Amino acid sequence: MSVRRHAEAIAQLVARDVGTAPPRTARRLLRPQVRWVAQELDEALARDLGVLELIERCRDQHLAGLDADDGLTALGIAWEEIVVLADRVLDGPGAAVCTRCGARLGRRPRCGRCRLAQVRR
Ligand SMILES: [Zn+2]
Repeated sequence: MSVRRHAEAIAQLVARDVGTAPPRTARRLLRPQVRWVAQELDEALARDLGVLELIERCRDQHLAGLDADDGLTALGIAWEEIVVLADRVLDGPGAAVCTRCGARLGRRPRCGRCRLAQVRR
């Protein structure tokens, strides 16, 4: 299993957890928080908002079904990569975000924040 496949599997768990959080709990706020963290990629912010904890919980869930080699691969994935993917999953298909900084993209050929030229998938 590739790094990317592991990252996407964990991101799916994160997105599912955000999407199914019961209403009237603090976790309901996670959707905007995930977006914020995915845009800022700031570790202290991610920790304060509980997003880091959520990612690590989902990573643990994902690890439970893996052998040692795959487990090591999954452990090596940066939380930044996972949160950007999770934010994209939550946006649903059709919503494009910058692959470098996670900013939302319009129709322009470059990211409005980091100026990275965008390759459409
Ligand atoms: Zn960008």
